[in-house]
Amino acid sequence: MLSKNEIVAALKQLIDPQRVLSEPEDIVTYSYDGTPHLTGAPAAIVHPVNTQEISNLVKWAYENEVPVVPRGSGTGLSGGSVPIQGGIVLSTVRMDRILEIDEENLTLLAEPGVITGNLAAEAAKRGLFYPPDPGSMKISTIGGNVVENSGGLRCLKYGVTEDYVLGLEVVLPDGEIFWTGSKSKKDVAGYNLKKLLVSSEGTLGIVTKVLLRLIPPPAATKTLLAFFPDMVSAGRAVAGIIAGKIIPCTLEFLDHVTINCVEDYSQIGLPRESGGLLLIQTDGHPAQVDEEAEKIRTICIEHGATEVRVAQTPEEGEKLAQARRMALASLARRKPTTILEDATVPRSKVPEMLAFIEQVRDKYQLEIGTFGHAGDGNLHPTCLTDERDTEEMERVEQAFDEIFKKAIQLGGTVTGEHGVGCVKSKYLPMMVGETGIKVMRRIKQIFDPTGVLNPGKIFFDEKKEETVSA
Ligand SMILES: Cc1cc2nc3c(=O)[nH]c(=O)nc-3n(C[C@H](O)[C@H](O)[C@H](O)COP(=O)(O)OP(=O)(O)OC[C@H]3O[C@@H](n4cnc5c(N)ncnc54)[C@H](O)[C@@H]3O)c2cc1C
Repeated sequence: MLSKNEIVAALKQLIDPQRVLSEPEDIVTYSYDGTPHLTGAPAAIVHPVNTQEISNLVKWAYENEVPVVPRGSGTGLSGGSVPIQGGIVLSTVRMDRILEIDEENLTLLAEPGVITGNLAAEAAKRGLFYPPDPGSMKISTIGGNVVENSGGLRCLKYGVTEDYVLGLEVVLPDGEIFWTGSKSKKDVAGYNLKKLLVSSEGTLGIVTKVLLRLIPPPAATKTLLAFFPDMVSAGRAVAGIIAGKIIPCTLEFLDHVTINCVEDYSQIGLPRESGGLLLIQTDGHPAQVDEEAEKIRTICIEHGATEVRVAQTPEEGEKLAQARRMALASLARRKPTTILEDATVPRSKVPEMLAFIEQVRDKYQLEIGTFGHAGDGNLHPTCLTDERDTEEMERVEQAFDEIFKKAIQLGGTVTGEHGVGCVKSKYLPMMVGETGIKVMRRIKQIFDPTGVLNPGKIFFDEKKEETVSA
């Protein structure tokens, strides 16, 4: 095994030494991501600027059996870019160019380190629309979004990142460079490796270019905010809207705890007694949007809404949407540690899952606020805690164990958008079964026979987990 000094010296031969970091403050900076309670120290951090540099770096690491952990902006919530087994952190943030916007084929080609919000803004300047909008889009990279298959507020109508990926350039763990996919809307040539690489969480290859599909933007959008006495009636209103053949672009909820945290923080006039809030946005042709907004308002009232606010202008719409946008920040102010989870269930099971989360919260005496994407059953139970309190952290773990088991039992999943990383790896066998794990391990073996790329992620390895945990 190479020493840290040997690794750093070798990396400085491969790229500009100024782009190899290894000072103690660098190690700390790249030792964590957005996941609480998880760290790992890399030997060095590299900032390549093109595909060939990535290929050279990865090839060297492969030949010397040094782990490589790809990293975008480090906003991941499942520990994906944390170097839990040391090695090299390979940051893509210097590869941040949009290489082409093709207005005839409606595509955009970008390097992996482009910030998703910037990419969407560049598309908008040409009158085009990139719909996936993860809450982190102002800071997360498109490369991170692709390999996590990130979702967002608009995914009920527009789908998730994978629905917009047409092609990828990838560096394999042995340094070989390959391209998968094309600008053709229809392409069924061979196995769909592009789809396999989407959601691969940096364990199969390093994405070095992303070819995305763009669409024309909707002509109009209307925003509504509806308040309910409890989440059960809010859940029924959600079912009523969908049964009314309306697919809003956004259908989000906040529970009672979250409404009050937002109001404490921002005083935007949310009724504190409300048991649940729905933020609903409909978009499309102006006449259709007006008609749908009116239907949604009626359905909410029929299902017990105590108040429905309908924005009359886009600016008013922005104000109404603030409540949802501030949910996480408002909850996070309460305690030193915020654990945001993403248990997901079929839409019809949302009320049952929410009731269960409340039971678990009371059983383990924890502070949990829940918000999320009601339209696609993606819930974010958010535990407000303090990681220094080991006894409480044990209760948090037990509570989430129960929540994930319940999500699976209801036909859902342990993660709807944050990925498995290392924090969900112990639940994956429960989710996909023994055969599922066996097939996934074989796929990993084909792409990465020596296991140098992002080790310790997706697959649970008790021994290694014990030796490297923070
Ligand atoms: C406030 C907040 C809000 C969020 N909201 C959402 C949301 O609405 N929806 C959602 O889905 N997620 C959300 N997330 C989670 C997170 O932002 C996403 O998973 C995002 O896609 C991660 O992008 P990143 O650039 O930060 O990647 P990182 O966190 O740096 O990396 C994530 C994973 O991708 C791998 N990786 C990164 N770049 C590459 C590459 N070029 N090639 C191969 N592997 C790579 C890493 O190894 C790691 O496994 C949120 C996070 C925060 C902190």
